Amino acid sequence: TPLTVIKGYADLLNQKFNENIKFVEEKKLLQPVLQSAEQMSDLMDEMLNLSRLDTASTLIKIELSIKSITAEVVEELENLGKMNEKTISLAFKTETVKADPESLKQIIRNLLTNAIKYSAGSKEIYLRWFENEKNICLSIKDNGPGIHKDHQDRIFERFYRVDKGRGRDQGGFGLGLALVKHQMVNHGGFVQLISDAGLGSEFICEFPK
Ligand code: ADP
Repeated sequence: TPLTVIKGYADLLNQKFNENIKFVEEKKLLQPVLQSAEQMSDLMDEMLNLSRLDTASTLIKIELSIKSITAEVVEELENLGKMNEKTISLAFKTETVKADPESLKQIIRNLLTNAIKYSAGSKEIYLRWFENEKNICLSIKDNGPGIHKDHQDRIFERFYRVDKGRGRDQGGFGLGLALVKHQMVNHGGFVQLISDAGLGSEFICEFPK
């Protein structure tokens, strides 16, 4: 794609600049190009994921081991260096869930990434699976600044971000929660938020048994 070409050549230039100390200034000028190409690529991925959901909403739901699919995502975040020194406390009160594996991984990934990104000042994140009468539930909870009630109605909308001024390195494009909501609806379930300013955030996803 054109973006791959931009990223490829920018990377190549960066390598060239790294090889010679006299290009210090040029290297600095190139960094916003590299960073923006990376962000543009993330945005494209998220938008493609959303549009795939819009068109092909048939998920392949199978009985999945909750422990191993959760471990896969946690491991992936660790390997990508995305844990930001947080620890995740895991609890499994139930064993399986009927879900589409890729879609479920994306849900866990998005919620965990948010809990990590938006919980400055606290270290622990809690991921808990349990069941109620009708549903298998996943809760991901952090002790970060929480989300004020005023924003809660809109938080699952596409491109909605609470702190629009915040740098993109801290936040993304406001598509992560829209994807989670969409995926949950496609599973015949739902996602809810329990939070308030200063009280941390808990996202609970309920999958029908
Ligand atoms: P983004 O790409 O901005 O993270 P999301 O759709 O995942 O987009 O989230 C939308 C907004 O909701 C974020 O910009 C952030 O302001 C807020 N948010 C999401 N998760 C949390 C959380 N765990 N704690 C506090 N705020 C959150």
